[in-house]
Amino acid sequence: MPLLGAHVSAAGGLYRAVERADALGCEAMQIFTRNPLQWHGGALSDGETDAFRRALLSSGVKRVVSHSSYLINLAGDDEARRRSEEALKREIERSYQLGIDAVVLHPGSSKGGDAASARGKLIASLRKVLDATDNTRTSVLLETMAGQGYTLGSSVDELAFVIEALDWDTRLGVCADLCHLFGAGLDVGTAAGYERLVSSLEKHVGLERVGCWHISDNKGERGARLDRHEHLGEGGIGLVPFGILAADPRFETTPVILETPKKDAGDERNLAILRKLRGYM
Ligand SMILES: [Zn+2]
Ligand SMILES: [Zn+2]
Repeated sequence: MPLLGAHVSAAGGLYRAVERADALGCEAMQIFTRNPLQWHGGALSDGETDAFRRALLSSGVKRVVSHSSYLINLAGDDEARRRSEEALKREIERSYQLGIDAVVLHPGSSKGGDAASARGKLIASLRKVLDATDNTRTSVLLETMAGQGYTLGSSVDELAFVIEALDWDTRLGVCADLCHLFGAGLDVGTAAGYERLVSSLEKHVGLERVGCWHISDNKGERGARLDRHEHLGEGGIGLVPFGILAADPRFETTPVILETPKKDAGDERNLAILRKLRGYM
């Protein structure tokens, strides 16, 4: 079975995130190891790392992914790229220290410039960061995006192009975000649409490279290129793909992470929906 979980807050210490996830009954979790809206995420102290690892061992959480800073743009101008490379490198190092085997990354934005050259920058910067962190075993998962603004990575094909350009580095993978893919125009609301997506992942990147799923419904219309998260079943997607994914044996031990709104006990409710759907499929 895939590992069901949620993005949880690390307020009060990273170990607190584990406690929160465990209290929710999560089998997997996603965290920010540092404030995602700041550049200067420093190193971790031994105390922080130990407390996190200890909390994890005594919890039911089996796998953790970290989400890198929203400021990172490896496809941006030179100054942005320099800071982004450094920030991603530190994120990988912190994650490795914590025993986290994957970091989720937004592929970046051309900011209105030429998309092909933006992709070229992303590829060159990823090469640099992967080389600089080859003493770790933490991989980078490129997230599928909704295509808002000038973001790169709104199709599986485009992510495959980037991974191929990096010679199928074993530390590269994909984080498939159903809300984003729907926003980008994919018909993921039906069983057939979900199956087409999985086939496309299998064909273009290989299912073993799908290191994480992000799930939430989308407030917008299909193809509106909007990144607006909604509770499961309350947006344009409906419940169908979430139910199939929750029990899909092809994603055995893959984290399936809720990114639904937190208000009104959102995580409790959405996890309950997933467990129920898993039972029915
Ligand atoms: Zn993300
Ligand atoms: Zn999103």
